[in-house]
Amino acid sequence: MILYDPGLNMVYKAYGIMLPISPSRADRIMDFLEQAAVLETPGVGPVYTVAEALDFLGEPRASDEALENAVISREDLERVHQKEFIATLYEDGPDPGGLVQALLNAWELIDDQGRLNRYEPDKAMKPLQELFRMVRAQVGGTYLAARLALSAGATTGTPPFCYYLGGGMHHARYDSGAGFCLLNDIMIAARKLHAENRVNLIWVVDVDAHKGCGTAELVCFAREKGDLGVHTNDPTGGTAGHVKSRDILNLSIHMARGWPLDAETLSTAQPGRAPRVPGDVEIPIEQGAEADYISGLARGLHRLEALSGGVKPDLVLVVDGADPYEHDGLLSSGLLKLTLEQCVQRDRLIYDYLQERNIPSAWIMAGGYGERAWEPGAHFLGILGLRMDADNQ
Ligand SMILES: [Zn+2]
Repeated sequence: MILYDPGLNMVYKAYGIMLPISPSRADRIMDFLEQAAVLETPGVGPVYTVAEALDFLGEPRASDEALENAVISREDLERVHQKEFIATLYEDGPDPGGLVQALLNAWELIDDQGRLNRYEPDKAMKPLQELFRMVRAQVGGTYLAARLALSAGATTGTPPFCYYLGGGMHHARYDSGAGFCLLNDIMIAARKLHAENRVNLIWVVDVDAHKGCGTAELVCFAREKGDLGVHTNDPTGGTAGHVKSRDILNLSIHMARGWPLDAETLSTAQPGRAPRVPGDVEIPIEQGAEADYISGLARGLHRLEALSGGVKPDLVLVVDGADPYEHDGLLSSGLLKLTLEQCVQRDRLIYDYLQERNIPSAWIMAGGYGERAWEPGAHFLGILGLRMDADNQ
């Protein structure tokens, strides 16, 4: 299944934000799959918009049908993020002008010297504040993709798999946005599914070039508050840790250096926190060590399995960043350069690992910059479709 809604495409230029993020990335993936004639292949297709996904799931549509309100409530955001931070975003907290500042922070639009950074407000066609609505709509997409993946196997007999052409805001932290991420859609979706008693153990498998630092921090906070089960984190992977029934175990394979690991702190209200809050399984890849990537990822998946102590996850959220790709257009992802073939191998490894174990997975697009960011996702899904087609004949 694919979740694709043109209404969710982020057009940053419309807000005066000059990032090398192509608004047509999702469209180009869809064009590629259409040309490869795989959109009808069960397992890749069918393709749902947000409204169609809600219909398929039997969920009522919100009366105003606005994408940002269709799925995610304020309570869903407050379950994961600091309440004061969310009040700032809704502009009803003690800091009424704080929304714009929070957005400027999240997209790093002002540098240390107070100068504009990649931001040309005179070219904006929309107010910056509107970004908050778009981000909430994107969060809803991640949640829906998870619901579709959970439903797919049970109701349609197709693989329990959904690829969402959006989402992946893994740097968003407890009390602030960071790294182009305002809200952590991965954690919001996961914790909403917990609250609705749909799943217990969730894995997050994050293969974006940058460490999933916001997710690691939020998992850590949720465990400290007792919202998630405790387990022993055995870095050797030799002895299985103990996992309580409701938990989120996270794996991140990422550049060993550079952003965000070299940022001292991104969190003002929690100065003790830094982007180096350890995840459950971390696989740092040094510059030039791309040949070790696939074997490291395979070992990482087995370590997640060991930490799960024999419990099969009910759902895996795959943060499928395209920015490890050698042709990525963002300077800060340049320390990891996988070929297109390695990117596809990476995704196939995860896909096959989960399908062999019949574990539902929702994939979210995450990082990917410049004109060629569509290529890894498109080729993964294209090859998957061709393989399914061959299997069915
Ligand atoms: Zn990234």
